[in-house]
Amino acid sequence: MERVAVADLVAYRIEDFPHWPLTQWRPDVAGRIDHIYTHWSAHDYASVFPAYHVCIATTPDGIVVVNTHDVRENMRNVYENPDAPYAQHTRGRNSHALGISIMAMQDATPANFGAYPLTEELVNGLCVVGARLAAFYNVPIDADHIMSHAEAAVREGYFGTEPDQRWDIARLVVSDKPLVEQDATDVGEELRARMRAVR
Ligand SMILES: [Zn+2]
Repeated sequence: MERVAVADLVAYRIEDFPHWPLTQWRPDVAGRIDHIYTHWSAHDYASVFPAYHVCIATTPDGIVVVNTHDVRENMRNVYENPDAPYAQHTRGRNSHALGISIMAMQDATPANFGAYPLTEELVNGLCVVGARLAAFYNVPIDADHIMSHAEAAVREGYFGTEPDQRWDIARLVVSDKPLVEQDATDVGEELRARMRAVR
């Protein structure tokens, strides 16, 4: 999320928004999108957040994709009229940009993913959603166009685990090794490779 504001902390339910099983979800709103940013929510498996456009959540029936924000609100230079509504997912990078997010990782640290860890199903869902969006909006799957919040944070100096820093998605499995910027690059490359492999 872009910033900690009261509105961002309100948890919504999957049922509050249009949602589909992963196999059925498709992008369907045409317009200009130049970038896609990947996130995790740092909350539980079921709560979803309109700070992102698309949330990937876990239900008893499997992975569900939830459209939590109208993508048309970010199909503009949002900083020319910042008072108009838009999804605030990645600091300073929200113009013509989508935020897609895995619902997981509440209270996670690099060495302990907590009660709602990333799962293979969630990561796969993120990559499928990313691949479908990239194809629909003609966004190249490379590090300049599709990056994690952590990669954006590395570029702009706020990468890390402090409250005002971000490390989503710089680690896919827990490790006692110290978190370093290379983790963001490595995981970003892995996610992009997995998106390219989606057919
Ligand atoms: Zn984020």
